[in-house]
Amino acid sequence: MPVPPRPRARIAVLGSANMDLVAYTRRAPARGETVTGEAFRTGAGGKGANQAIAAARAGGAVVMLGAVGDDDFGPRLRGALDSAGVDTARLRTVPGASGTAHIVVDGDGGNAIVVVPGANGTVTELADADLHAVAAADTLLLQLELPLAGVLAGALAARRHGVRTVLTPAPVVPLPDELLAATDLLLPNEHEAEALTGRADPHTAARALLDAVPDVVVTLGAKGCLWAARGKEPLTVPAPAAAAVDTTAAGDTFAGALAVALAENRPMPDALTWASAAAALSVEREGAAASMPERAEIDARAAKS
Ligand code: AMP
Repeated sequence: MPVPPRPRARIAVLGSANMDLVAYTRRAPARGETVTGEAFRTGAGGKGANQAIAAARAGGAVVMLGAVGDDDFGPRLRGALDSAGVDTARLRTVPGASGTAHIVVDGDGGNAIVVVPGANGTVTELADADLHAVAAADTLLLQLELPLAGVLAGALAARRHGVRTVLTPAPVVPLPDELLAATDLLLPNEHEAEALTGRADPHTAARALLDAVPDVVVTLGAKGCLWAARGKEPLTVPAPAAAAVDTTAAGDTFAGALAVALAENRPMPDALTWASAAAALSVEREGAAASMPERAEIDARAAKS
């Protein structure tokens, strides 16, 4: 019998879109000082847009919810999402500046960043059509670069319609109980897990977070990730060996791929192995969106894990 085509994972992302403005300099300027940099590049970023592009490359049918400005950057951000196959029909254009991230990368690879939320800051509530888009998804991906009121509106809509919610708690802010109660999977990195719980050990931090949410995945950089779920033994999934050149957006690549795998009803250990393969591929290439792998590449890398 022919195998029926696998339905595409339906992913909604409610989050930020930022234009990254990156200056590369041997030495970052001190206050009041001007230095001459070596290079400049711009690129689409923001955790929401990054996760949306990662999920689309991983094979999901992705809808992006959020806002860009009516400045020059708005169409570029929308275009970056469009060209990855993300549905941007519900991405609002609002008067004023798009979100921007002003990044200075120094000669040691260290960075200093100012994020100006711009249009992202206007997403304090969702229109009916946005709520419908959430309701039609298998999984809603959330981060904290939008106002908490907007994030909460999305999480509550997802909860009402039985849509799985995956929250990346970045940047870390105290999480309201109402948001945690509407979160199925919390996905911090180890620094965020420590900031949220005050526990440096990721196992201890994950266990503490299980008081608030049923599933926690802590990403551990080159060490892989740790899954903790209520009533289960924690599971550590090592990262595949990777020749890392740029870890920008590794966590977002991981989140996008994980959402797709879970929406396809793969068991969590398989989903984590697959997401780890996606993230490993992304660290081996420069850039944020530019480094995110396509589904076939992820399959091939995961098969070697
Ligand atoms: P992080 O946000 O640094 O915790 O990274 C997210 C995920 O990206 C990790 O859980 C790994 O799957 C992957 N990752 C990050 N850095 C590396 C690395 N150097 N080698 C392989 N995988 C990595």
